[in-house]
Amino acid sequence: MSSDLLELTAAQAAGRIAAGELSAAALFAFYRERAAADRAGGEDGLNCFTWVAEGAAADAPAGSLGGVPLAVKDLFCTRGVPSQSGSRILEGYEPPYTATAVERLREAGAPLLAKTNQDEFAMGSSNENSAYGPVRNPWDRSRVPGGSSGGSAAAVAAGLAPWALGTDTGGSIRQPAALCGIVGLKPTYGSVSRYGMIAFASSLDQAGPLTRDVRDAALMLAQMVGQDSCDATSLQFPGEIGVPSAERLDGVRLGVPAELSGEGIEAGVKEAFDRSLEQAAALGAELLDVSLPHAPHALSAYYVLAPAECSSNLARFDGVRYGIRAEGAADLLDMYTRTRHDGFGPEVKRRIMLGTYALSSGYYDAYYGRAQRVRTKIAEDFAAAFEQVDFILTPTAPTVAFALGEKTGDPLAMYLNDYCTVPMSLAGIPAISIPCGLSGGLPVGLQLAGAAFSENKLLDAAHALERALAFDGSPAHV
Ligand code: GLN
Repeated sequence: MSSDLLELTAAQAAGRIAAGELSAAALFAFYRERAAADRAGGEDGLNCFTWVAEGAAADAPAGSLGGVPLAVKDLFCTRGVPSQSGSRILEGYEPPYTATAVERLREAGAPLLAKTNQDEFAMGSSNENSAYGPVRNPWDRSRVPGGSSGGSAAAVAAGLAPWALGTDTGGSIRQPAALCGIVGLKPTYGSVSRYGMIAFASSLDQAGPLTRDVRDAALMLAQMVGQDSCDATSLQFPGEIGVPSAERLDGVRLGVPAELSGEGIEAGVKEAFDRSLEQAAALGAELLDVSLPHAPHALSAYYVLAPAECSSNLARFDGVRYGIRAEGAADLLDMYTRTRHDGFGPEVKRRIMLGTYALSSGYYDAYYGRAQRVRTKIAEDFAAAFEQVDFILTPTAPTVAFALGEKTGDPLAMYLNDYCTVPMSLAGIPAISIPCGLSGGLPVGLQLAGAAFSENKLLDAAHALERALAFDGSPAHV
C-alpha cells in the first residue's frame, strides 16, 4: 500500500480519491508521517521542512485537487503557522493571514501539509543560506538540492510530499527542480498573485509548482492563476490552464540560443541537453539557432536589480513589527541595528549592502538605471526570438547538484548557477524545467521558455518531451 501510494502523481491520487478508491484522510496521514519523520530525523533526514502539520488535515475541502496535500515554501504567509522565509529574523512569526496562492489551492482541495526549508529570503542557489540548516539532495545526500526552493524540490523528489509550491525570482523553482530530477514551472510574471509572499525582489518574484510531472504542474497552476485585488501587479490569465496532452511536436519551432547552451555548461549536462534536442527533432520539432545577444549580461543586471529591490523590501525588518527583537539596546537606532545584525545571515547582509549602494544618490543611474536598460534589451531579445520560434530550449543549470559546502566560500561561483534561468526572469516570461536524463547518476534539467502567457502551449510541449525522454524520477526508488 505504502509504496503504491508513493508511485502516484498528484493527479493520479486526486483521481483515486474522486473515484472513492482512496480516502483523502489516508493520503494526508501517509504523507504527514513521512514529512514528520524527515523533520524528526535530524542529521539522518533531508531537513526539507520547517513545520509539519500535526494530526489530520485542518480542513480538506472537496475540490478538483481532490484532497492531495501540499507542501509550501516557508516564505508564503500561512495563518497561524510559522512563516519565516528561512530567516532568523522571522523566527516564530505566525502571520494573521494566508497568501492568495496558498488560499486558492486550499479552496481547490489541497490542504497544507508542511512548510518547506529555503534559502533565507529566497537568496541562494543551494539552500545553504537557510537559518534552519541546509537541505540534502535525495539523489546524493552529500550534495545540495539547489535553491532557493530546495526544501520543496527535495521533498517532492524524495516522496515526502506529493507536490509543492515554490517561488522563483531568478531561477529558484527551475534550478532546484533540475538538481532534484523533478518538474518546476515559473509562470509569466503577474499571472499568480504575490500577495502574502514575503518579498525578495518584487518585480521578479513569482510563485509556481514543483511537481513529479508536467501534468501535475498544469493541475496546480490552473488553480493558482488569476487577478487578485491584493496584488496590483497581478493579471487575469487569458483563458484557462488546460491539461497537457500533446505527444508530438510536429510544426513546433524550437530555438537554441548559443549564448545559453555552450560556454560554461558542464560536459555531462551538455550531453543530456543534446540528446534532448535529438528527441525533440524525432518528435517532429524544427530546431533553429537563435540569438539572445544580451543574455550574457543578464546575471550582472540581475545582481544589481534583485539586491536593489531586496534592500528596499527588507527595510521593514526592524524588530518593531515582526519576528525577533534584540535585547538590551541603548536606544531605538541601536535596537534596529542589533536586530538586523543578529537576525540576518551573511548573504542577506551582502545583498542589502550591494542594493543600498546601487541605489545611493550618485550611483543610482550608473548601476540601477543601467541594469534596467539591460533588462529591457533582454526582453527585446526574447521578443525578437519569438518572432522566429515558439520556444527557447536551454539546459536549466550549468551543472548537476554540487557538494554541500563546495561553493559557499565563493558567491560569484554560486551566482553562476542562475546563468540560464535569470534571463527569463528579467523578461517576465514563463519557463519550465523538466528532467532530461542523468549525468554521473545525477539529474539534469532541460528548460523550455515561451512568450508571456504561453503556458498552455509550453506545458503541452514539455509534456510531449517528458513522454519521449521517459525519465524515471519515481521517489519510490530513491
Ligand atoms: N539564486 C538566485 C539568487 O540567489 C535566484 C533566487 C531566486 O530565484 N529566489 O538570487
